[in-house]
Amino acid sequence: MSRVLVIGCGGVANVAIRKCCQVDDVFTELCIASRTKSKCDALAEALKGKTKTVVTTAQVDADNVDELVNLINSYKPDLVMNIALPYQDLTIMDACLICGVNYMDTANYEPEDTDDPEWRKIYEKRCKEQGFSAYFDYSWQWAYREKFEQAGLTALLGCGFDPGVTQAYCAYAKKHEFDTIDTIDILDCNGGDHGYAFATNFNPEVNLREVSAPGSYIENGKWVEIPAMSIKREYDFDCVGQKDMYLLHHEELESLAVNIPEVKRIRFFMTFGQSYLTHMKCLENVGMLSTTPVNFEGHEIVPIKFLKALLPDPASLGPRTHGKTNIGCIFTGKKDGQDKTYYIYNVCDHQECYKEVESQAISYTTGVPAMCGALMLLTGKWTTKGVHTVEEFDPDPFIEALDKHGLPKSESHNPVLVD
Ligand code: NDP
Repeated sequence: MSRVLVIGCGGVANVAIRKCCQVDDVFTELCIASRTKSKCDALAEALKGKTKTVVTTAQVDADNVDELVNLINSYKPDLVMNIALPYQDLTIMDACLICGVNYMDTANYEPEDTDDPEWRKIYEKRCKEQGFSAYFDYSWQWAYREKFEQAGLTALLGCGFDPGVTQAYCAYAKKHEFDTIDTIDILDCNGGDHGYAFATNFNPEVNLREVSAPGSYIENGKWVEIPAMSIKREYDFDCVGQKDMYLLHHEELESLAVNIPEVKRIRFFMTFGQSYLTHMKCLENVGMLSTTPVNFEGHEIVPIKFLKALLPDPASLGPRTHGKTNIGCIFTGKKDGQDKTYYIYNVCDHQECYKEVESQAISYTTGVPAMCGALMLLTGKWTTKGVHTVEEFDPDPFIEALDKHGLPKSESHNPVLVD
């Protein structure tokens, strides 16, 4: 029996909400609130007659703390699931603290306006001190740790697939497979084809910002930064086949380095096809990925926002996307004094996802873990107060829930390693 407020009604939220409604004995009441209420109403309508969950909808501007506080105080949820954009993380956390409600999200904070001089000052100091230049990092949300602890509340950060399940895989490997872990390689492969020359599988603005940024990895406790897409490997993925993958900066590297400090090297690789890379480079070269407004015929236009308006809506890719994703972690380390390797991953089929929840696998592999994370908090499996990432909790009930709700794990004790 619980009341949940979901903020956002895009590609990922659509899957998370549909999955919550499949577990209607836990998610008994759910309010979908977003900037565009008509999208919430359309989803509520689509769910009618398919679930016992009592679904209501609301309009909210999640950049506005007062509006959020009014909504939370009137709905009185047990948990707020932030599945809007990373730009809203801090305002929603503020509102949860004011109202005394648990919080969770799927991506760490990133400012919408990276030209804001106050934010830039802090950002540039962090770049120098830490050695990586991504716009997003955990420091903003980790700064809320004491406040959440003192309020007796939990904030669960980054509970999608990556970040999210990948950290649960790390906690699982540490708990069951290794005494010490030496290296972690996170491999994110999308073998799906949507038939467009260029489209992104989740919010284009967030996706393109992430992918066009310099890559980085952690070696012996220090960040090593490299030009974007300058480290390439090939890997033969189970159920997908041979793919090119590139080393990227990714948010879970930061928390894993803190929470599994013995690890000597942590890297993240993502697969990209040549058409995607060629389009992205061209768009970058002509300035279309810029977040700095330009004046065009008397109007202020942010190039990457304009590009978003031109690209296919990720939510529309579902029926067109065929193929599979394969996301997981390869570990090296020691057990009982012996060297050991281990690979844990999930394979997910785009068309199967579409049949079940009318979405492609990227939204599915994010929305299902978001529902499972909420399930952990609502059923008292994860209770630690404060602000925490997924690897800080017991991985077993979470991975069991993923197995049951559509993202089963596969394992190999003799994987091919990435050089
Ligand atoms: P979408 O752009 O499809 O959806 C975002 C939703 O948030 C939309 O409904 C949008 O409303 C709403 N929204 C945006 N701004 C506001 C605001 N100010 N107030 C209220 N609602 C707002 O994004 P996705 O579903 O693709 O992604 C959702 C989140 O999931 C992102 O944070 C993304 O980074 C994260 N993600 C995480 C992954 C992981 O593995 N951990 C993988 C993929 C995504 P409107 O309809 O009006 O635009």
